[in-house]
Amino acid sequence: MKESILFRRALLGAACAIALSAQVSERARKVHSDAFVFDGHVHVMNRQLHDGSDIGQRLKGGQVDLPRAKDGGVDAMLFSLYIPEEYYPGRFETKHALRLIDLAQKQIAANSDKIAIALTRGDLDRIHKQGKIAAVLDLEGGFDLDGDLGVLRSLHRLGLRSAQLPAHNWANQFADSCCSAQKHAGGLNEHGRAVVREMNRLGMLINISHAADTTVEQVLETSSAPVVATHHGMRALNDIPRNMPDALMKKLAAKGGVIGFHIGNEFHNRKMFDWRTKNAGKPFWDTSAVKKEEPLTIELVDRRVAPTFPMMGTNAPEDLLFTPEEWIGVIERAITVVGEDHVALGSDFDGGPTPPKGMHDIADLPRLTQAMLNRGWPEARIRKFLGGNLLRVYRQVAAGAK
Ligand SMILES: [Zn+2]
Repeated sequence: MKESILFRRALLGAACAIALSAQVSERARKVHSDAFVFDGHVHVMNRQLHDGSDIGQRLKGGQVDLPRAKDGGVDAMLFSLYIPEEYYPGRFETKHALRLIDLAQKQIAANSDKIAIALTRGDLDRIHKQGKIAAVLDLEGGFDLDGDLGVLRSLHRLGLRSAQLPAHNWANQFADSCCSAQKHAGGLNEHGRAVVREMNRLGMLINISHAADTTVEQVLETSSAPVVATHHGMRALNDIPRNMPDALMKKLAAKGGVIGFHIGNEFHNRKMFDWRTKNAGKPFWDTSAVKKEEPLTIELVDRRVAPTFPMMGTNAPEDLLFTPEEWIGVIERAITVVGEDHVALGSDFDGGPTPPKGMHDIADLPRLTQAMLNRGWPEARIRKFLGGNLLRVYRQVAAGAK
């Protein structure tokens, strides 16, 4: 019985893959492969840490591995190392960050024919010329809840080139998050401003996804370099604290930054967000079930979170999902607010997105290029969205390193 279900699913998967490839024209494939595709948010290493898999192998399930990233035409990615809230009560955030960076360095080295780590301004171009995917290590969640500058510098020495300021959906001691009731810093406190200035000095990308509006505002005032929101949506389309209001998007763009758009319906599609919230009994960013007072060992936390990886979207009814063309309509709405130089892709694959109809994993990214062509986008704008804009900001920020 189980086997026949699996077989039917495999058939369905194969049928979907054929249907999808039929939906991507030769022209779309060419435009996509000629573009520099820079995905601003891809979850990696959490799954690998817990299930021992190798990112260089074509993995069963999930949405990301290097063979599929290659199929999806990816040239660079913010290689997001995620520290879930469960690690914070026991103060394991820095240890977990160190474990993830170590694993990332090991897996990148073991797959050095396919991927290389980007550390300097010119590295993305150099790695691209070698025909490999460039990985910019990005920390999602607190590197240290106290924001110790020595810890930040140590992680930078280990290869970290981008980090979120708040501790994912929790506030830490220096930056408030979008999505927790506790606010400690009034946005960004004086120490938070020191973190921002140190990241500027190191030439690190400052990622304000998951930050509170007050935090975003104050980061933009403090930073000497453009700032990125790697995986986001617009509050004008879905009024949730995790999304950004138009006024802040304009300020982010005025500073030269980019906003990366999350591939998940839950960010942009209100009907699907409501369905998901009703089914889960809570919105997707709600981590209030993680008890602050519960002291656990890191091994127990590992055992608790391991089954949640790779994080996948929901099985929402198909008719609730956006088509890829409707998803591109979201980007068009953003372009009316900030212009085409400030939008980017930040899929969040393996971070729990429910992608547009007919899309399943990172290999399906060419379908977005087809959707952009279907909506009449000029090729120059397609190239900016797929990676040109984020590449510009990466170069600018890295050039500021002192
Ligand atoms: Zn995130």
